[in-house]
Amino acid sequence: MRVSSVARSVVPSAIRKMFNKALEYGNTINLTIGEPDFITGTNVMEAGSRAIFEGKTKYSENAGILPLRMEISRYLERENGNRYDPESQVIITIGAMGALYLCMRALLDPGDEVIISTPCWTNYIQQVKMCGAKPVLVPTDEQNEFMVDVGKLQQACTDRTKAILLNSPSNPTGSVLDHGTLAAVAELSNEKDLIVLSDEVYKHILFDGLEYESIAGLTGMRDRTVIFDSFSKTYAMTGWRVGYSAGPEDIIRNMTKLQENVAACAPMPSQYAALEALKGSQEYKQQMIAEYDSRRKLACELIGQMPLVSCLRPKGTFYIFMNIKQTGMTSEEFAYRLLEEKQVVVVPGTAFGDAGEGYIRLSCASSKDNIVSGLNKMKEFLECLQ
Ligand code: PLP
Repeated sequence: MRVSSVARSVVPSAIRKMFNKALEYGNTINLTIGEPDFITGTNVMEAGSRAIFEGKTKYSENAGILPLRMEISRYLERENGNRYDPESQVIITIGAMGALYLCMRALLDPGDEVIISTPCWTNYIQQVKMCGAKPVLVPTDEQNEFMVDVGKLQQACTDRTKAILLNSPSNPTGSVLDHGTLAAVAELSNEKDLIVLSDEVYKHILFDGLEYESIAGLTGMRDRTVIFDSFSKTYAMTGWRVGYSAGPEDIIRNMTKLQENVAACAPMPSQYAALEALKGSQEYKQQMIAEYDSRRKLACELIGQMPLVSCLRPKGTFYIFMNIKQTGMTSEEFAYRLLEEKQVVVVPGTAFGDAGEGYIRLSCASSKDNIVSGLNKMKEFLECLQ
């Protein structure tokens, strides 16, 4: 064997598998997309290209350009009341993905355990494995609105548990953790002396007037929480690859040291673009969120008219996690048959862990026309099953 046991332990995402399968079919309607279908805002693109033409094309400091770290620090203070020192408690990374990985490398020794509620974005699981550590998966339940089950988290704790990972709003379920749940997780993490990894990349894509609450803002949590955020989803900037973390100094400093050795820094022009995204007008962002909201309403209405399936109305993100249990099919069977018979591409819920069995994930990061055509075809498919 030439490759390491760690590399062998990592499995490719089932979303990619579905994507590749769809390429075998000509004209498909793709409802799998995990990134905004909008292009980046004009002001942000201009700031990025201006940075390039001004020669800001070099390495930046490993932790990222200071003006962006300062802006993030101001922004977080407004958002959750905590002040993070831009010099030592904020790092700019290659997307939130880069931040999550650096943080896990900074925290985890082989054999350490990280508790993750599922269904979840499975990159967490792979990243934990890449550190030789152990992901401990704790299922959530649709009846409980896919809310993190703190009793189960407590049962999952061992003397090797290092951290609890939270993702609110959640990819794929669209659930948002309420204050009571956050407070209970905070209590547990204080009691067991755990770090909370709080993935907040969808925090702005919230509906029905919900206000975002970060666990980092709860009493005693600032010093045991690492926040992960990104410009990817909020500002339609996936390809710019820029995200960040804020948290305790010992963790952020070590992430910075590690970043020096794997990437040096996030791309410098992207960091200037991100600075404009945060400082400039938020109007385009609001328009995108309003559009996701109206697509979500439309999709839920259409799903409500279909036999054998149902969905909770997501509180955030641009995903819908649809229950297909009454069809009697597994998630994979459903997704593959839908592709074969109607050329509509969706992600089987099992791509987000075993707890996703009986569900499929639909993405509303797609035009209304696409959503309507895809869901009409799905309705025909379901009617034939009855
Ligand atoms: N966290 C979640 C829950 C995601 O869904 C994604 C991307 O799909 C990421 C983090 C990573 O985003 P990025 O690395 O583009 O910032």
